[in-house]
Amino acid sequence: MDETDLDKAHQRLLEEIEAEARDTRFWTDRARFSDRVMAAMAKVPRHEFVVPDDVPYAYINRPRCIGHGQTISQPYMVAVMTDLLDLEPGHRVLEIGAGSGYQSAVLAEVAGRVFTVEVVAELADAARERLRRLGYDNVEVLTGDGYRGWPEKAPFDAVMVTAAPVEIPETLADQLKPGGRMVIPIGRAHETQTLFVCVKGEDGTLKTARSLPVAFVPMVHKS
Ligand code: SAH
Repeated sequence: MDETDLDKAHQRLLEEIEAEARDTRFWTDRARFSDRVMAAMAKVPRHEFVVPDDVPYAYINRPRCIGHGQTISQPYMVAVMTDLLDLEPGHRVLEIGAGSGYQSAVLAEVAGRVFTVEVVAELADAARERLRRLGYDNVEVLTGDGYRGWPEKAPFDAVMVTAAPVEIPETLADQLKPGGRMVIPIGRAHETQTLFVCVKGEDGTLKTARSLPVAFVPMVHKS
């Protein structure tokens, strides 16, 4: 597969994401994603984030394994979760679960600065190196436990969690600015999970709403 084939597959993927956005509007209340989110999906080279053998499949709208029992999320899922955060160019975003760094790169195209935490040291190191090589100098990768968030960099305009805890970690809600948004999958592994969209009120309380049914790897507790 050469560059032209990858470009064509990438273009098809964008059309599939647009179609899926229409199909899932009942769950998300959004029949299309913002131009800025779609431009980010068009720009970030997903084939740089998958394992070498998977390059030909990089623009198929599916999650893929990236080693260490972890996955790179489905492109549609990356797009919808990014869209649901309503990001502005100056926003500071906390991501939990850097994985391959693909979602971090999409966030970095749409927001101002991205702080991402990954519990598996090898994945964090690989994501840090990959994002640096691709020129994403507005992303910082921390090896650590996402249940702590990143208190030194808080508060954040938005929080995105890409692994599923069984309930919303209070620490992450605490690190959100008033008016800030969080998207987070909630539920046990291998059971149906639900994507929640949360908005922190000016009084500090968190309003939560159910969005899509989803399937994410569990957000683990570091032993
Ligand atoms: N955003 C990623 C998808 C990652 S899958 C991408 O675009 O590729 C979820 C990731 O969350 C995995 O890499 C997993 O190791 C990580 N993870 C699980 N529990 C975590 C925790 N407590 N803290 C930080 N990362 C965690």
